[in-house]
Amino acid sequence: MSEETTPQKAALYAEKQKIYPQKIAGRFRTLKWKIMGWIFAFYFLAPWIRWDRGEGQPDQAILASLELRRLYLFNIEIWPQEIYYLTGLLVLAAVGLFLATAMAGRVWCGFTCWQTVWTDFYVWIEEKIEGDRNKRMRLDQGPWTGEKVVKKTVKHILWIFVSALTGMGFLFFFNDAPTTFMEIVTAQGSLETYGFAALFAGTTYLFAGITREDICIYMCPWPRFQGAMFDEHSLLVTYEAWRGEPRGKAKQKVDKSQGDCVDCNLCVNVCPTGIDIRDGDNFKCIGCALCVDACNSVMTKLGRPLELVTYDSSSNQMARERGLPAKKRLIRRRTIGYGSFLAAILLLMAFGLSTRSELEINVQRDRAPLFVPLSTGDIQNGYTFKLLNMINTPQSFTMSIANMPAATMTVIGVADTPVKDVQLTVAPDQVATYRIFVRAPRDSLSGKFQDIVFRLQPEENGAPVDYTTQFAGPDK
Ligand code: SF4
Ligand code: SF4
Repeated sequence: MSEETTPQKAALYAEKQKIYPQKIAGRFRTLKWKIMGWIFAFYFLAPWIRWDRGEGQPDQAILASLELRRLYLFNIEIWPQEIYYLTGLLVLAAVGLFLATAMAGRVWCGFTCWQTVWTDFYVWIEEKIEGDRNKRMRLDQGPWTGEKVVKKTVKHILWIFVSALTGMGFLFFFNDAPTTFMEIVTAQGSLETYGFAALFAGTTYLFAGITREDICIYMCPWPRFQGAMFDEHSLLVTYEAWRGEPRGKAKQKVDKSQGDCVDCNLCVNVCPTGIDIRDGDNFKCIGCALCVDACNSVMTKLGRPLELVTYDSSSNQMARERGLPAKKRLIRRRTIGYGSFLAAILLLMAFGLSTRSELEINVQRDRAPLFVPLSTGDIQNGYTFKLLNMINTPQSFTMSIANMPAATMTVIGVADTPVKDVQLTVAPDQVATYRIFVRAPRDSLSGKFQDIVFRLQPEENGAPVDYTTQFAGPDK
């Protein structure tokens, strides 16, 4: 077949265009730098804060120790059995995100999401090495010269350095920070330590340096359903088309037939996801408001009213279009609902933490066999007792059976002959496990199953703690 008659194959997907965000100054850019500073300060410094918990205890204020299976948050210590507190934290984070979105749109994505923050920092490094937008574009399009090789190499070395710090920083939340740091820098770390540090560093380098906005656009599920939290009063980044259109030229004299937009494209050039906010709502918009800063800088130079691209609600825009006064409505039914739910979870968790017991009892009754008839005529049941001492001093108890006066018990390793009560001790911050056998005369039993109440009387005159389970026997 000749070349003229060969049908052209159309590409299935458009080729990806690299985005070169332009540097811009303004109030939202300043706010983003400040938030980045706070997040970096927390991420890199928080694991180094020390907190005295007493002898033999980790002294790191914030530590999620997989080895000790404990989450330490200053003087709060969450045990694996208290996983519901972590669930509470996750629910708090989710509802907090819903509330923030209902009030201020994609404020999380644009200002605080760690993908945005790290990408912002990597773009800043790129800018410092390769120059602003036009220089970067020229450098990429130009041939591989010595200067280009040096600039690209330095940039990637700096990116790798920040990625390595980030990878290490992540490990410090799970291991003692000074110890792990020394292990890593003196090449004394385990293979797991280096493996996980490399994994987190590699992910940071890939996500923040290479894939950048693609993570927000293609991988993150949040843009897909965040729209459900918006209403006409949610603050969103929008273009006031009624004021901006029809677009004209900056030098053109402003008359009634021309809008304020001078089609300079600065709002597009600064956008980290490369979209044109003038085209209307777009799920790719991360709400960073840099286009607001960009357009305001243009409007300032032209002496025209600011906020042509604005961070405001659609109801306010409609009001302004009609010449009516605009007002922010942050408190409304939807935000009150999210806010109340948030407050209820917070109160519930605060109440739970302030009234949490220092001792947790977990008892498992033997199921096979349910009971053992003894040659003495007694019926015996076996139990596995777990006592969790959640404080840093030992706890001792006298344990007895509160509701079966004829019953006696043996405790393996503690009381080998039947007794009415027994001394149990649990070491600080430990779980003590006891095997207990309770025996009771057959004719003292009231049925096939009856309640049995184990009473633990603290040695230091605290209130007794009861644990009720069942005692099994034969049919009457
Ligand atoms: S359109 Fe504006 S707010 Fe949205 S991502 Fe781009 S610069 Fe940020
Ligand atoms: S920055 Fe403002 S004036 Fe320039 S294109 Fe965007 S909306 Fe129009």
